[in-house]
Amino acid sequence: MTVAYFVGPWDLDHRLGCVPQDPSAGSIVLVESVAKSRALPYHRKKLVLVLSAMRHFAQELRADGYDVSIVRAPTYVEGIRRHVRAVHATEVVALAPREWALDKALREADLGAPLRLLDDGGSDGHFLLTRDEFIRWAGGKDTLRMDVFYRWMRRRTGLLMEGKKPVGGRWSLDAENRKKVKGERPPALPRYEPDAMTREVMDEVAGWGGGWGEVHGFAWPTTRTDALDALQRFVAERFAKYGDFQDAMVTGEPFLWHACVAPALNLGLLSPGDLLDAAMDAWREGAPLNAVEGIVRQVLGWREFIRGVYWLRMPGLRDANRFGATRPLPAVYWDETRTEMACVRESVGAVREHGYAHHIQRLMVLGNLALLTGVRPLELSDWFWAGFVDAFEWVQLPNVHGMALAADSTFTTKPYAASGAYVNRMSDYCTGCRYNVKKRHGDDACPFNPLFWSFMARHREELSRNPRIAVLYRSWDRWDAEERLAIEATAQRLFDGLEQAETGWRVERDAG
Ligand SMILES: Cc1cc2nc3c(=O)[nH]c(=O)nc-3n(C[C@H](O)[C@H](O)[C@H](O)COP(=O)(O)OP(=O)(O)OC[C@H]3O[C@@H](n4cnc5c(N)ncnc54)[C@H](O)[C@@H]3O)c2cc1C
Ligand code: SF4
Repeated sequence: MTVAYFVGPWDLDHRLGCVPQDPSAGSIVLVESVAKSRALPYHRKKLVLVLSAMRHFAQELRADGYDVSIVRAPTYVEGIRRHVRAVHATEVVALAPREWALDKALREADLGAPLRLLDDGGSDGHFLLTRDEFIRWAGGKDTLRMDVFYRWMRRRTGLLMEGKKPVGGRWSLDAENRKKVKGERPPALPRYEPDAMTREVMDEVAGWGGGWGEVHGFAWPTTRTDALDALQRFVAERFAKYGDFQDAMVTGEPFLWHACVAPALNLGLLSPGDLLDAAMDAWREGAPLNAVEGIVRQVLGWREFIRGVYWLRMPGLRDANRFGATRPLPAVYWDETRTEMACVRESVGAVREHGYAHHIQRLMVLGNLALLTGVRPLELSDWFWAGFVDAFEWVQLPNVHGMALAADSTFTTKPYAASGAYVNRMSDYCTGCRYNVKKRHGDDACPFNPLFWSFMARHREELSRNPRIAVLYRSWDRWDAEERLAIEATAQRLFDGLEQAETGWRVERDAG
């Protein structure tokens, strides 16, 4: 039997089932899919990251004695087919891909040899749970709640547990993750300067048409060695404040005390276990519980939950549009100079420059603006998928459609809609902004205020069914008709002034 092992761009971990333990067990193929690289207007740094990480991984495997081919082909399926023909493979082994469309394509394709597809979770896979384990947990529940899932995972793994109770007496220290930054500054994020191989990829990508952002300044880890170093530096330099400032936003500081490991994690350069082990080691050495529990909640809880929801809800998740949003994506998402909203300028600018913005910028600025202006969910999720170095469909789609836009109600009971007051509470953006965060209407009113109230008014019937939101309508009802009309008129002027993105980019999300 001649076995060909397909290693997807997100499987760059020699511990996964798609890499045989014995180098003589077969050949390994990595595919650079031309269609995939052009399916969306990807950030150039993201293309560099993925291609460079794949080529470095291939180099490492070769150094360990593996027979490795990198095939550049029109699609992943065609690349595997070509390899099967070249090595006369009699079986293909792969880990189930992280994308629904590719998963389907692989299962249905004639690869020239039978395919053995392993689960991408559990003992062979990258995630802690198999897809079936999540489906079994979710079975029969009307609404899926992350906090319930998280507790189940804590009990199941025994992480941060004292017998049957959570360490410290509480399951979540979320309330202790919301300090505003006052004067402190985070240490600089480590940079991993491009080696010859990465520089070659940078030149290649810079020469391609299309795409967003620049290759210049690329400094994300592209090898496991650098990714482990980044993780270790996070724990040593930023972890102590990670818990306190998880929800904070600061002008000119896109990374703050965040881990910034999602790009490496989602490619397989790190595993969830690497992060959890690092957090638990730090805990034993005295790291604060709000930091340790914070990262455990994100990795053991949110990340596994989001991935489970993706497979549970696809392909319908893409069509979710609970609020019937119809507006195209505003141009500001591609060009931050089109707005004077300081918070939006900062957040879009960070994505354009680094392919990264942290969680609260994603949720409470970029997501909130699209929610309040009624942007079509799929347009926002395409933007996230294209623009973020850590974005793959399994993770961006549930976060955008479920969390940021509440377009899908599988796990979101209430939308994260917010006025300018939230941004003001959690950031220093408003002090340098030309808008007045205290005003609800007028040309200098913070746009988030009239947009928030207009959203609330438009969706009153549905939202007021939720008791936690219903209380907000008391303010709206207290204001006189003149005030409410002025708010609506300001919101309307903002809607009329929204410029639509005219990028001319083609979107073929399932290509590749
Ligand atoms: C609208 C929106 C889009 C998002 N798109 C992505 C995406 O494309 N890729 C992605 O990895 N994350 C995404 N997230 C989740 C989260 O914002 C990022 O994982 C995080 O900002 C990555 O930066 P970090 O490594 O510094 O994370 P930290 O804030 O330091 O958190 C540590 C780790 O926890 C995990 N994590 C935390 N929250 C989530 C979550 N909600 N879903 C999945 N994993 C989580 C990540 O692996 C992250 O690396 C999105 C969130 C929102 C609201
Ligand atoms: S005033 Fe409004 S638009 Fe300006 S930074 Fe604050 S929240 Fe953003």
